[in-house]
Amino acid sequence: MVVDSVRALPRVREVAEPTAPSGGVVLRVTATGVCRSDWHAWAGHDEVVFPHVPGHELAGVVVEVGAGAARWRPGDRVTVPFVCGCGRCEWCRAGEAQVCPDQQQPGFTHWGSFAEYVALHAADTNLVRIPDGVDSTAAAALGCRFATAYRALVGRARVGEGEWVTVVGAGGVGLSAVMVARSLGARVVAVDRNPGALAVAAGLGAEHTVHADGADVPAAVLDLTGGGSHVAVDAVGSEQTCADSILSLRRRGRHVQVGLLPPVDGHPRVPMARVIGWELDLLGSHGMAAADYPAMMALVERGSLQPQRLVARTIGLEEAAALLPVFDRATVAGMTVVDPAR
Ligand SMILES: [Zn+2]
Ligand SMILES: [Zn+2]
Repeated sequence: MVVDSVRALPRVREVAEPTAPSGGVVLRVTATGVCRSDWHAWAGHDEVVFPHVPGHELAGVVVEVGAGAARWRPGDRVTVPFVCGCGRCEWCRAGEAQVCPDQQQPGFTHWGSFAEYVALHAADTNLVRIPDGVDSTAAAALGCRFATAYRALVGRARVGEGEWVTVVGAGGVGLSAVMVARSLGARVVAVDRNPGALAVAAGLGAEHTVHADGADVPAAVLDLTGGGSHVAVDAVGSEQTCADSILSLRRRGRHVQVGLLPPVDGHPRVPMARVIGWELDLLGSHGMAAADYPAMMALVERGSLQPQRLVARTIGLEEAAALLPVFDRATVAGMTVVDPAR
């Protein structure tokens, strides 16, 4: 699926097959999720070189191994974080590839996975083996939104049992956060403008839902939680949702910013007076390194986490090409996964 220029209608057509970079691999794509980040790239909010192939939430089978990639063989079933580290810098060597200064992102820095084949760099650092008991769709659902939610709550906010977690935005990353928070024994308040998304959040274990359509979200959350939540996640990325998340916290609470706040929308005003006065922690979270996947993947294999429950539909590339330009306005609940062979 090729996008020829900013905001051009995506077209499905034959292009040259990728070759494995040094240290990398080529995968045959078996499943790839559609994400709001793909829409941002399509809309020109990222530094993307056109013509471009989007797609960054993928699972597939190794078909070609480049020189210097030691851990992988053709036939291996793998997934990959959307942030791929260089494999050489101090951050990658410490297992923190999600902040690698020399990172690659399939579907952004090079052609991505809305295709039959995709090339991936630094395979020994970035590839994650998919256990036999986990299918491609579940694995593709992990790469961006689920892993991001897992790291936001486990690695960054360190959510504890019995704590209140407010999740602002019940899209893919928000619903993932609901599931992860529940698996940690936390109590969840989900906030969204879409009643259908809130119903899904409730089905995944959100104890309360707040319909954000003009409501005073912080007041509602403070009321429901007896003074505010311990942790709040902005899973949307707007000035309003960021402020709602921060102002929904109790004193000493932790806010995690996961939704992107692209500069094109202007510099967001953040309620810093509250941050100072109530000693709130503001945490950024950016995907999750492959090194941190095994603990999450074990929970998926055991069934304690079920990312496949977030997948609402599987479509082909032609349908995905029609969906991408309107994805910012799509009010679909749950994740959409593309099967390029469909
Ligand atoms: Zn994504
Ligand atoms: Zn690196």
